[in-house]
Amino acid sequence: MAQLYFYYSAMNAGKSTALLQSSYNYQERGMRTLVYTAEIDDRFGAGTVSSRIGLSSPALLYNAETSLYRDIASEHAAQAIHCVLVDESQFLTREQVKALSDVVDNLDIPVLCYGLRTDFRGELFTGSQYLLAWADKLVELKTICHCGRKASMVLRLDSEGKPFSEGEQVVIGGNERYISVCRKHYKQAIEQGSLQAIYGAQTPLN
Ligand SMILES: [Zn+2]
Repeated sequence: MAQLYFYYSAMNAGKSTALLQSSYNYQERGMRTLVYTAEIDDRFGAGTVSSRIGLSSPALLYNAETSLYRDIASEHAAQAIHCVLVDESQFLTREQVKALSDVVDNLDIPVLCYGLRTDFRGELFTGSQYLLAWADKLVELKTICHCGRKASMVLRLDSEGKPFSEGEQVVIGGNERYISVCRKHYKQAIEQGSLQAIYGAQTPLN
């Protein structure tokens, strides 16, 4: 029986690397995968999933209008698909998460979604909300805070490197303006309006 998986984490936990490894494992056994990524993530050029350690794969793009069930069913009818992998799945709509669950339930194709759990305000992304609610398997990909605790929160930094938690739930793209921290240090950084509690006098590496 196919299942719907949600691999979630803060930023820089190696989500794309994990996706590419899983896709490769299928292909190595002669099986066909479909890889999707969000149209708004154009860090590496349109239609590519790339990991920070140098792996990459072509990808189909999705946006809020994409009919994922129709597209996947049509591809599957033309040539069997053995696994669907979705990067940046936090940007899926409620309807698209439902559509991916239909791919699992009606077409019996496993669907592996990779995404951020929360935004820089500590709020769930829509796609993550419904994946957390409806996925068969939830898997946390861990990364660590500067202090060594698990980093579960994302801090947004302004152009002067000061953290803030107001404003739009904007696209999360590169590494430069967001860092992953533990909950304790997230709260301290927001309260103090600086990264002093996390790094002390040291300069952050990124
Ligand atoms: Zn910490």
